[in-house]
Amino acid sequence: MSTAPLFSPAVSGIQSSPASILRRRARALRAAGRDIIELSSGNLDFPTPDHVIAAAHAAALRGETRYTDVDGTPELKQAVRDALLRNHRLSFTQDEIVICNGSTQALFNALLATLAPGDEVIIPAPYWAPYLDQVRLLGGTPIVVPCPQNNGFRLRPEDLQAAITPRTRWLIINNPVNPSGTLYRREDLADIAAVLSRHPDIWVMVDGLYEQIVFTADCAPTLAEVEPSLQARTLTVSGIAKTYAMMGWRIGYAAGPSALIREMVKIQSQTTSGASSISQAAAIAALDGPQDLLRERVSILRDKRDRFVELVNECPGLTCSAPEATFYLLVSCADVIGKHSPDGTAIRNDRDFVAYLLEHADLAVFPGEDFGLSPYIRVSFANPVALIEEASRRLKRACAALR
Ligand code: PMP
Repeated sequence: MSTAPLFSPAVSGIQSSPASILRRRARALRAAGRDIIELSSGNLDFPTPDHVIAAAHAAALRGETRYTDVDGTPELKQAVRDALLRNHRLSFTQDEIVICNGSTQALFNALLATLAPGDEVIIPAPYWAPYLDQVRLLGGTPIVVPCPQNNGFRLRPEDLQAAITPRTRWLIINNPVNPSGTLYRREDLADIAAVLSRHPDIWVMVDGLYEQIVFTADCAPTLAEVEPSLQARTLTVSGIAKTYAMMGWRIGYAAGPSALIREMVKIQSQTTSGASSISQAAAIAALDGPQDLLRERVSILRDKRDRFVELVNECPGLTCSAPEATFYLLVSCADVIGKHSPDGTAIRNDRDFVAYLLEHADLAVFPGEDFGLSPYIRVSFANPVALIEEASRRLKRACAALR
């Protein structure tokens, strides 16, 4: 039998996303009878709004069940243009917008359209892990730039400047940041823009998936609105998943220079043929429909955030502050590192702590290591309050049991 490798070296070099691995493990433990609380999920515990579901149903009954244009229906692209104008005062033409299967695909298509092997992509840490693996999958080199907690986990302009080389192709900015809930304000983005303006060959991707889950403003700013001179090389990415609790509908979008969008659409035409017709109809209803539900939901999330922050800070060895955005807490677990569990297992790092919490406290959380910054854990507060309180009791008990 041949000893030739069965699988592509590019794919062998990456992992399944940490989220999918943890979800599988939690499901297996649950199937074995364990009462696992998942604080790891990127799902919101709100339902998709009724009027959005009704619009999807109506579209299906109307016969909107055929392939759509590869780049999205003209009606959804119009709704996205209106949303970009409403949220960011940015004007795009129809050929500067593409609708994708989630913002995940928008990010990937953009990288696939532009990266050559060895090209570098600057990724501030903590980061959403797929940025790294998407770059690696394409033969690029992720250049991770740590963003210290004492700067609110924001990328410092001098650190960005130091990371730039002749091979730098992209900077990826996530605003607000998953996992830290950090919000880049206009002045933070202006400082980053000042560095980029000295390097005209670098593209910038701004992932604003959580842009409307913000507690201190209505919407997070995006780079293209702060520095219009960068628009010709900026890709503004967002989606409907978090804003409208539509994670499973798989609709995201990108807006940027038409030449880049054209290449992304070309890729899409050969891979997915575009997004689901029914989900696109639903997305129109979400974007064009009443927006007041969103503020109500953000206010509910704010209360949960405040409760969870208070409870986490009662756990010996854990500390966190209230994030300005998203529905995650990035909790420092520095003071539990070096301790031992009751059965004598050493907690050497955040991954050990996470394993301890899963096996001994029935809690599924992410280690900071999966986001490129340790020692932390990420927990979600988009959960019922009773679940947050029960999880906090388990967390406190587990921390108190460490020696
Ligand atoms: N960007 C960030 C920062 C995310 O956290 C996620 C999903 N959790 C995505 C992009 C992808 O979102 P989707 O594909 O569902 O639009």
